[in-house]
Formats: sequence, C-alpha cells, structure tokens
Amino acid sequence: MGVPSAATPRTFDIAERLEQSGGTLLARLLSVLQTSLDTTEIMRLFGHEITTSIPYDELQFVRADEPPLPFSETLHECRYQLNLMGRALGVVIMRRRYPFTAAELEAIENLLCALIYPVRNALLYEDALRTALKDPVTGINNRTALDHHLDQRIAEFTRYQHPLTVIMFDIDHFKEINDCYGHISGDTVLAAVATRASQCTRSSDVIFRYGGEEFLVILSDTELAGGVLLAERIRQAIEQMEVAVAAEKVKVTVSLGVAEITVNELRSELLERADAQLYAAKATGRNKVCPAY
Ligand code: GH3
Ligand code: MG
Ligand code: MG
Repeated sequence: MGVPSAATPRTFDIAERLEQSGGTLLARLLSVLQTSLDTTEIMRLFGHEITTSIPYDELQFVRADEPPLPFSETLHECRYQLNLMGRALGVVIMRRRYPFTAAELEAIENLLCALIYPVRNALLYEDALRTALKDPVTGINNRTALDHHLDQRIAEFTRYQHPLTVIMFDIDHFKEINDCYGHISGDTVLAAVATRASQCTRSSDVIFRYGGEEFLVILSDTELAGGVLLAERIRQAIEQMEVAVAAEKVKVTVSLGVAEITVNELRSELLERADAQLYAAKATGRNKVCPAY
C-alpha cells in the first residue's frame, strides 16, 4: 500500500483491505442495512461500514424522483444508478479529493449489491408514510399529520418558548357549491382553496385539511399579529380567486379564526380557541378574520 503524501495520492489494495476486515464487510453490510427503513440512515450506515476500506469525503443518495445533483467541480466522484427489476431507485454518489482506483470501483460495485433491497424497502415505506399523511382530495397534509406536527411544535414552545400560532379556516356556504354543482365540482373547489392558501404561506408554515371543508395552518415562530396578517392574506387571495367548474367560474370566501398558544395550553385547548374565533367570524358576517386576543 502506498504511503500518502501531498504529492502522491493514496493507493489501496482493496482485496487486501477486504481481506483485512475478515472478508466479512459484505456480510456485515447485508445484516446492518436491514436495521433501518430510512434512506438517510441506510446511507449513513453504509458509509460508516465501508469508510475504512474505501475512504471518501462525501456520500449521497438522490432518489429517482428528486432532481439530479450537479457534478462536483472540486472533487473526484463516482455515481451509480441503483436499478431493481427495471425500476430506477436513485443514484449513489461518492466523492473524494483524489481519484478512485479501478479496484476500489470494483469493490464499490460489489458492496452496492447490499444496498439495493434495503433502499428499495425504505423507499416503499417512505412512500407509504407520505401517502398515509396526505389528503387525497386536496393533496395537502391530513388530520393524522396535523396531530403529529402540532405536538412537535407545542413541545418546542414548551422547551424553547418559540411562539406558535394557528389559523383555522372554513369555506363559507360550501354546501351551496355541492348543491349547485355537485360533489365532484365541490372537490375541485376544495382543492383550489387548499392550493391557493398554500401559496400564501411561507415555507415554514404547514397547512392541513382539518375536516370536511375546514383547514388549519400552523405557523412556527410566529406571534398572533403575524398570524392575523397571514390570515388576512389568505382571506383576500381566496376572495379574488375564480374556480372553473362545469363551464362556470365559481367564487368562494373563507372565514378564519387565529389563536396563539399560551403557557401550559393543551393542543385541544388551542384548537378550541381557534375554532371559537372561526365561529365568531361566521356569526358576524363571514369572509373575515377573528383573532383570539
Ligand atoms: P358555513 O358558511 O357555515 O361554513 O356553511 P357551509 O355550507 O360551508 O357549512 P356546512 O357545515 O353546512 O356544510 C359543509 C359542507 O361541506 C357539507 C359537506 O357535504 C361538504 N363537504 C365536506 N367534505 C367534503 C368533501 O370532501 N367534498 C365535498 N365536495 N364536499 C364536502
Ligand atoms: Mg363551511
Ligand atoms: Mg365546516
């Protein structure tokens, strides 16, 4: 094995390295990689196991449904697309400051065999999880996702006192849309409202379908005043929107309640206060924002 220096790159006898590791690296990988259903964790485990045999600086996995990464301008890299039964799973990218030898590349190819089924299983699991947390009509997060997300934000509020505000809103007279245009057209309007409201939010805000035609927006790190501003932006955006249904342009409005969490408040209490303000907006004319002061 060559002695590393600034001028001469390190060289490796990969067969020797694998031999030194007891020839068990592939066997160990096959067992270790089965312990996770998370692609990030699987890649971390893979990298951790191979790093003494094949040193590298960066290791990444890019799912087939994600945009490809640009080639590195400063590092040498090798890329392998993982395919299984004709389906592309994604691309494994390894990078380092000096070139990979032919023997190393051959070894990497052998070791990648251990990665294919764990990555396929993790991708299937991630897709199933994603589907379970999405509402099929609107494409936004569903109630199950909401409970999980809100509990996490409340825990952050309790631990770090990060302010937390929620907006609950409901389409006004939505029953009339269903009655006039039918349930399918009603679904189109629901989806359009969800999309338009999502476009009003920042990337840190998360929107959920809370019930039939009710939605909830969770605003991390936001006080009541910021929540009222966003609620007003959503109200105006929906008011100005026209949805094409059954050769007609339909207009709808929404009523919104806003509440900021207080110390020791439970998730259910916060939602009840937002709901009470939504009810107040309905009772006092609709198409308006009512904050819980
Ligand atoms: P308000 O202004 O008081 O909110 O009146 P509203 O008509 O919007 O409220 P109401 O609660 O009377 O009616 C809600 C309607 O929403 C009734 C229900 O059939 C409809 N709805 C609930 N979920 C869906 C859905 O997934 N698709 C469609 N098309 N309609 C739905
Ligand atoms: Mg309604
Ligand atoms: Mg409702």
